[in-house]
Amino acid sequence: MSGVAGRGPEVRSFIGETDASGEPRSTARPAPDAPALDTPAFDALHRPLRDLRISVTDRCNFRCVYCMPKEIFGRDYAFLPREELLSFEEITRLARVAVANGVEKIRLTGGEPLLRKGIETLIGMLSVLKTPEGRPLDIALTTNGSALKHLAPALKAAGLHRVTVSLDSLDDETFRTMNDVRFPVQKVLDGIQAAHDAGLGPIKINMVVKRGQNDADVVAMARYFKGTPFILRFIEYMDVGATNGWKLDEVVPSAEIIERIDAELPLEPMGANYPGETSARWRYRDGGGEIGVISSVTHAFCGDCTRARVSVEGTLFTCLFATAGHDLRALMRGGCSDDELSARLAGIWRARTDRYSELRSTRTAGLTPSPTGGARRIEMSYIGG
Ligand code: SAM
Ligand code: SF4
Ligand code: SF4
Repeated sequence: MSGVAGRGPEVRSFIGETDASGEPRSTARPAPDAPALDTPAFDALHRPLRDLRISVTDRCNFRCVYCMPKEIFGRDYAFLPREELLSFEEITRLARVAVANGVEKIRLTGGEPLLRKGIETLIGMLSVLKTPEGRPLDIALTTNGSALKHLAPALKAAGLHRVTVSLDSLDDETFRTMNDVRFPVQKVLDGIQAAHDAGLGPIKINMVVKRGQNDADVVAMARYFKGTPFILRFIEYMDVGATNGWKLDEVVPSAEIIERIDAELPLEPMGANYPGETSARWRYRDGGGEIGVISSVTHAFCGDCTRARVSVEGTLFTCLFATAGHDLRALMRGGCSDDELSARLAGIWRARTDRYSELRSTRTAGLTPSPTGGARRIEMSYIGG
């Protein structure tokens, strides 16, 4: 398979011509603050812009069956050439303008973000940004953990606050099958420990639960992380993208996950940390810490969704399930001013009406996963989780 499968024709049509831009540049210096319009920008459903997820690479060393299945992302899959990616300067500029419009949290993702060469340089550049009130940003990164053992100290030194590590099973054979590159569990556990030792906490562990694949490991995962500083979160397998062959009966509803754990390790609900938190929190009744469930399929949380996503080539998406985005790279490479970039970003956000998950929930038993009317959605590995 070759070409741009998984990104989809709708996206490509938004992508402008490029200049080549080199990176990384090590001369990180604070840029002047971008002009704020009225901060924060609110969308058409009165949701503020608060979080920005930035995909820094479309490449990954894993081929998780639910995200980058080998049949599609095989040897001849055409990943983007480097000049198509946003440079570190472009990412930082976009982030600075987004911060001027209300963003307070930045999460770096991918693909596998630790595969982006010089990622710590980018983190250093982002870490000097401040909110209009002068507060530092919350900078996080989601990773498969494979390179954390070596990189954790440098990431921390560069200004990263915390990491979320994906781990779908403690059973080595199940994990190797799910990442589909035979990557062993122990190396991810070593990465988690290294991140903890480096002070990149509180560390969250994400487990995507797919029925028939790893759902038998739910209680074992809960037991393993109970009483540790790590917060385990169970994610419902989502119908994101167009290549993972999603079927509703492979989703294990969060309610069932809680029921299964509660039967062996009694739980009680907790309140949210902040409005818009994607994860519903539960704690062990015996004081053994907390877990979270992210019910993206069975319990829509669009009403509080304050997240925008920037793809690896600078296309802004206002929903994880979007079928098209807005090409900010073309604008930047076309020589726009910060004012123009800020006005464009605010304009896109103000027009936002996305609530894919809510609309899906209202469809008959959710039997069809596509309120997009059949238009091809963007792959998770391209837009970032
Ligand atoms: N490579 C990094 C990682 O795996 O953590 C970051 C990118 S990955 C796309 C971000 C998150 O999305 C991961 O926690 C992953 O498990 C999750 N994810 C990917 N495809 C998913 C799907 N179909 N349903 C639910 N979660 C998914
Ligand atoms: Fe790679 Fe993360 Fe997707 Fe797995 S979930 S294939 S590690 S991008
Ligand atoms: Fe946000 Fe879209 Fe997910 Fe709803 S479906 S929570 S709007 S990303």
